[in-house]
Amino acid sequence: MSKALDITNALYTLYPEAPCGLHAGDDPYRLFVMAVLSAQCTDERVNAVSVELFKRFPTPLSMAESEEGELEKYIYTVGLYNSKAKSLREACRRIVDVYGGKIPSGMEDLLSLRGVGRKVANLLRGDIFGLGGIVADTHCIRISVRLGLCSKKDPVTVEKELTPLIPTQMQSGFCHRMVLFGREYCTARNPSCEICPLKHLCDTAAN
Ligand code: SF4
Repeated sequence: MSKALDITNALYTLYPEAPCGLHAGDDPYRLFVMAVLSAQCTDERVNAVSVELFKRFPTPLSMAESEEGELEKYIYTVGLYNSKAKSLREACRRIVDVYGGKIPSGMEDLLSLRGVGRKVANLLRGDIFGLGGIVADTHCIRISVRLGLCSKKDPVTVEKELTPLIPTQMQSGFCHRMVLFGREYCTARNPSCEICPLKHLCDTAAN
């Protein structure tokens, strides 16, 4: 078995349940909005504001038609709220006009929505549409390079190098588990290498 699969399996054993930190259920619209809001913000904060946000704006159409200033009030505490509100209004307008009010699943279609980069697109493709997707966030990037799975601390490189290594249907869970592992063991500062359950598979530990 390849090292990448060994790591994937070890992470699965460590964290059998690996839910997304954003509590969007299986609703594509909710996950799309919450993922856009989560840039430079904690999942907890996004989950907290989302309760009232989705009561007021339950559909892409309602968000597309929101008055300038109103949406901003609901998301004020997530940071960068002006540009996030602008992105959400514009993206929702396109979702309504071009995609019939449904979040598209194609990579290029997702990337055509304002505020959506490859990280958000891959999250949606993996979690909602079952198409796989490497979410190259800060944890995934840091740990992949430390383990020796990827050559460079760069999101595009990590996505490109991990994609062929992790089976498509496991990619979404793999990335969620990397977040949990990055918080518990392989932290940005002072990783717990001595007690790390992946130590035997890690290039950094070997060196
Ligand atoms: S051994 Fe250390 S660097 Fe390697 S994965 Fe574990 S915590 Fe991270």
